[in-house]
Amino acid sequence: MNVENVNLDIKITPEESSLTAIALISFKNVKSKISGIILNPDLSWDKIIAVHDNREYQLKPIEIDIPEDILYRVAKAWEIKLPSELNNLENLTVSFVYSGKILKSTWDLNYINSTEVELADYALWYPYFNQMSFSFNLTLHAPQDWIWISNAYPKPCKHCFKWRNSNPQIGVVLIGFPEKQAIPERDDGILEGSKKNYNKLKPLETEFKKIIKKQIDWLGSPNQENFSIVLVRREKGGAYVRGNLMIYPEELPEDYFTKYSRNVIASWIHEHSHLWFNKAPSDNWHNWIDESLAEYSAYLLAKDYFGDEFFETIIKRRKELIEEASELPAINSINRLHEKSYTVFYHWGALIHESIREKIGTELMKKVIAHLAQKSISREQVDTTDYIESLNAVTKEDWTDIVNKLVSSKPDVKTL
Ligand SMILES: [Zn+2]
Repeated sequence: MNVENVNLDIKITPEESSLTAIALISFKNVKSKISGIILNPDLSWDKIIAVHDNREYQLKPIEIDIPEDILYRVAKAWEIKLPSELNNLENLTVSFVYSGKILKSTWDLNYINSTEVELADYALWYPYFNQMSFSFNLTLHAPQDWIWISNAYPKPCKHCFKWRNSNPQIGVVLIGFPEKQAIPERDDGILEGSKKNYNKLKPLETEFKKIIKKQIDWLGSPNQENFSIVLVRREKGGAYVRGNLMIYPEELPEDYFTKYSRNVIASWIHEHSHLWFNKAPSDNWHNWIDESLAEYSAYLLAKDYFGDEFFETIIKRRKELIEEASELPAINSINRLHEKSYTVFYHWGALIHESIREKIGTELMKKVIAHLAQKSISREQVDTTDYIESLNAVTKEDWTDIVNKLVSSKPDVKTL
């Protein structure tokens, strides 16, 4: 079973933290049931209907256990047994009508309240299926004096807001702020969203813009451009990227706007790098490929832009972090849900690339990363084998054993 397209028609009432929705979902190759539908536990089904051969079928969801491999911890899971007339169809479109409030989300990243809205897959505000990516249309009925932002291209609409994204996405994002609290729209601006810290972040935006131009020269055009950073007010949780949108919590310690501004920019480059590195499976160890390459690409660009000393400091600090952490597992023994996955995938992973750069030089290493980036934007999926293939193709040497050993051994900087 595959999800091809999601058509969302949503009404949001910020004061009530509530939404009412119709999600029209087109499936391909459904057998006898629609399984693994995940939804926010405070949303409830009003009606689920499939239409086939001019006949309407009312469908009944049955609650099931949440699958083990699901990243979302605030969720209910459902499945629908289809009547025999709807079995084994090549195409099936189902209309899910549901409503309720968004009160809790995984890691408290998402919410609807009277002064701001942040919705992404963490809130499960639309029927979600694990490991899917899909094109979507979004029609929004919500306060007209708010600014609304989605990871899609805006379309005109008289009394609503509309977007369309034909590039497959792993999640639909919707951010809203009352106009008075939002950064005004600009033609070439990267920063959007809450304007509270806008003036402090503006100099960082200017530098970031120059660096990502260089990144596009290096890695080639990504499938989506017009990258934006949407500032949100929450104090908890990190940044994430969906398509060409990075959601970024603006509440930073004061010295991040000054002394550590280069580190903030490096973290933005990490997220920008996911425009290329987003095709490794997120539910197994191969996820290290996306995270470590996003991280290491940021280091290499920072090297060019901020100088060798800044780069050396980052590498030294990453080595210390590996040495300070005790009992780190091997990359290929965990997935991103593991408590040490950040240190192992991001930091240890980046150090693996750095150890290879030390052997082959910066220019060749950049070619290896660009080689994999191009593969990644043209393919459905990439994994560690593709990384090794890019290394072998560019260097004309066989790296299979070296890489396999590094990903299957416990992190230890002495082995690099
Ligand atoms: Zn990342």
